[in-house]
Amino acid sequence: MIRPSPQTDELDRGYWGRVIRWNGWDNARNALGILRRQKANAELGSRQEPLIKLIAEIAGLSTEVFAQQHTTLPLRRGITSYQTDLQHGAAENTDMLWTTSMRVSRPGAYFCPDCVITDIDRQGYSYWRRTLQIPGLYQCSHHRSGLHYVDTSAAFDQDSEFYLKSGIQIPSHLCTAAQVNPAIQRYLTLAQAFLLRSEPLAVRPIALQLKNCAKEFGLQCNPGKVKQALLSDLVIAKFGREWLHAVVPKLAVKPEGEWFNPIDGVLYCQTNSSNTVAYLIAASALFETFDQAMFALENNSEAELMVSHRKSVNISKNELIKRYAATGGDYRATAEHFPQINDFVVRQRLQTLGLPNFSGRSHLNLQQAAIAFYLEEKSLIESAMVFGVPLQQLESLVRNAGCGFAKVLAIMAQDGERRYFNKTQQNLPTVCLG
Ligand SMILES: [Zn+2]
Repeated sequence: MIRPSPQTDELDRGYWGRVIRWNGWDNARNALGILRRQKANAELGSRQEPLIKLIAEIAGLSTEVFAQQHTTLPLRRGITSYQTDLQHGAAENTDMLWTTSMRVSRPGAYFCPDCVITDIDRQGYSYWRRTLQIPGLYQCSHHRSGLHYVDTSAAFDQDSEFYLKSGIQIPSHLCTAAQVNPAIQRYLTLAQAFLLRSEPLAVRPIALQLKNCAKEFGLQCNPGKVKQALLSDLVIAKFGREWLHAVVPKLAVKPEGEWFNPIDGVLYCQTNSSNTVAYLIAASALFETFDQAMFALENNSEAELMVSHRKSVNISKNELIKRYAATGGDYRATAEHFPQINDFVVRQRLQTLGLPNFSGRSHLNLQQAAIAFYLEEKSLIESAMVFGVPLQQLESLVRNAGCGFAKVLAIMAQDGERRYFNKTQQNLPTVCLG
């Protein structure tokens, strides 16, 4: 059997299509039958396995890693009230592996024609990128060119180059409008960051965070007779009905002043009544920067939310910076050095100082990209590409970094051995990461 290696960010369905074609199988159904028979012959009495597990085995990856790197599950299951302790693709989450693990994140199949051409030059075939399937994404962040799409997800069965001529181009006025809209850009950056997460976030603390912020806007946080301004109307004002039409169609036609549960409900529901995209849209409407929004979503300790976030506490700035640098820019670890002060207050001070949070696995790459940009003087695009960080995420970090951030970063990387960029540049990818 031919077992091709999946490409970086290659979408599950596209990879499966490639496996089927390269092995000369007729269609997905027959291919699945062949795989199951092979498995049954090799492992006597083996139980039937979900498709994602069989495909991950062909790719030479664990089901978890395949789910985290090649499906849109990290976005679709990014915020949940169910089994939040389980990583995406975990074997214990059997129902999910059988049912939703390989679902599409938006109708149709999206590709960047420039990526297709680069792919063919580089490796002789093109592949479908997972990042380009984010709902509401109109442009390839690498080529800045408008995406094309095919209106059926069955298109993933073929290489994307097959649709170079027949794919429908997203009208350029929509691309331009999305490009200059800060709320849409914040949402897209959040969605890309969620695709890189290995586990979901719990919905309950997020609902509380969003509610705290919504109260400051004077928004109505409970259903019933509408007496105050609504989050759904704020979203319409910030995102525009035209863009929303493709992402939350019913919101795009909602009359002003009418409660719209999939969006307004994110402020009070403690279980998932809405999908992750709705939470990301809400956070992007309520917060002014990507960092503030991500901070609110990731700040998952309910205890922290119980204290007033207006409370002012005296923390020595130098002491705070020293601790921050010593922990490698980890908010949580920094806060542990100030046991007498609420975690939440420490985090807010760090944010006000323009020092980004580098805690968590997905943030290591971001830190390396920041070092490449600030200390190695590489370009923003190069730094983002080499460390696999969405360009918008790095741009947002740079935009929100305080003027002393580069100095603090230098302290963090002071021994000179952590010249990440030089260590890795021989592996510099020459193709678009989508
Ligand atoms: Zn591209």
